[in-house]
Amino acid sequence: KSNCSTDDTFLQAVSEVLASLEPIIKSDSRYEQFAILERLVTPDRIIQFKIQWLDDNNNVQINNGYRIQFNNSLGPYKGGLRFHPSVNINILKFLAFEQIFKNSLTGLPVGGAKGGSDFDPKGKSEFEIMRFCHAFMRELHTYIGARIDVPAGDIGVGSREIGYLFGEYKHITKNYDGVLSGKPYAFGGSLLRPQATGYGVVYFAREMLSQELQESLEGKVCTVSGAGNVAIHTIEKLQQLGALVVTASDSDGTIYDPRGIDLTVVRELKENGRRLSLSGYADRIPGSVYTSKNDYPAQGHAVWQYPCFAAFPCATQNELSLFDAKSLIENGCVAVIEGANMPTAPDAIELFQREGVLFSPGKASNAGGVSVSEFEMSQNASMEKWDFDKVDRKLDELMRQIYKRVSLTAKEYGVERNFVDGANIAAFKRVAEAMILEGV
Ligand code: NDP
Repeated sequence: KSNCSTDDTFLQAVSEVLASLEPIIKSDSRYEQFAILERLVTPDRIIQFKIQWLDDNNNVQINNGYRIQFNNSLGPYKGGLRFHPSVNINILKFLAFEQIFKNSLTGLPVGGAKGGSDFDPKGKSEFEIMRFCHAFMRELHTYIGARIDVPAGDIGVGSREIGYLFGEYKHITKNYDGVLSGKPYAFGGSLLRPQATGYGVVYFAREMLSQELQESLEGKVCTVSGAGNVAIHTIEKLQQLGALVVTASDSDGTIYDPRGIDLTVVRELKENGRRLSLSGYADRIPGSVYTSKNDYPAQGHAVWQYPCFAAFPCATQNELSLFDAKSLIENGCVAVIEGANMPTAPDAIELFQREGVLFSPGKASNAGGVSVSEFEMSQNASMEKWDFDKVDRKLDELMRQIYKRVSLTAKEYGVERNFVDGANIAAFKRVAEAMILEGV
């Protein structure tokens, strides 16, 4: 009923949620009476705009910009901005829809949104990035506000881009408030925000492994995909906890380093606006292996062919196929913890669940980023600055709570260890209650 028959990725996300909700939807007559499902799958607003900017040669460039404000029943719209050539309304609707549930699971007062542009940051100069961000905000600023809609980062948008976006917002509105999260620490950003999603993923994994299998991550071989913000901080925290992380990847290929990924080298290639190929890693680290995307298995991804105890997909949607799931299981993987949004294909999730592999959906395990974004909003509103340890403790505690909420809900509804259903049901109940209490 979403009127979006061509939106395959969005419909994939909606189908998964609706399947989880089947057993509970009849349990409360108000869900039907208030048309909760129909309202929940339709965005409040889709905003689309043209972005015009000048490149370094003074040529006019044009991109599409979007903000999808999906649901604000629990609080101001909140969700990242993605700058990547693959961005379109279908992708952003899927991300904004997932964000409603993720934000609900945190227990914090934030609604769901997402936005971005088909702008490709790769190969752009610092000044081109700045001009593009300024042009993007010239269009976006009328739709956002600290109590209305608070965008953050996502693929292609880190604290540098958020800084430029904030600068232009302030320039236009003269308003110095917490309208964006993920700001540089120098003006209103929260400590630990850059690390929050990746660290949160590992805190969630630690809790899940300890509660379900009485296992720790120490000494365990882990595979991680991606080499961006989420992947780097997932690897960093795994290494701090004594795990051996043997892979990383980007859009062109995968590196395997049996002695453990050297994060300094990955950072030199990827951080501070550099987006150099990971093939440079193999040139520098003897014994590591680089596999180009062209040499991946026909139906799979090189990262998931390596044996591991736990796998952490942290790059992008649909990057772990059924073929990959079979390889992981054959190679003894016991847990898959999503860092990216919806990286695992539906048939791969089913297989993991059938075979008893612990599987955590991104909306539960990657909610640390939005949680620390909300901590940033709190700090901005109260003009406070919390120290690193305080934010880290709060993040760890919040990830444990999310795990507990998800696993208890799964038990309550007779689907023990099905964290997909547990997450969807727990998140839905909170949003639905708010929608009912607010009236139509
Ligand atoms: P970054 O832009 O920092 O990194 C993305 C990484 O994924 C890069 O290594 C990039 O490769 C790779 N990648 C991007 N698109 C593709 C693609 N189509 N195929 C293969 N590889 C790809 O983004 P983040 O780390 O912030 O985001 C990663 C995932 O985590 C996304 O799903 C995002 O929605 C999700 N997420 C992010 C949060 C955050 O706080 N940043 C919060 C919650 C979820 P390359 O270097 O070649 O570009």
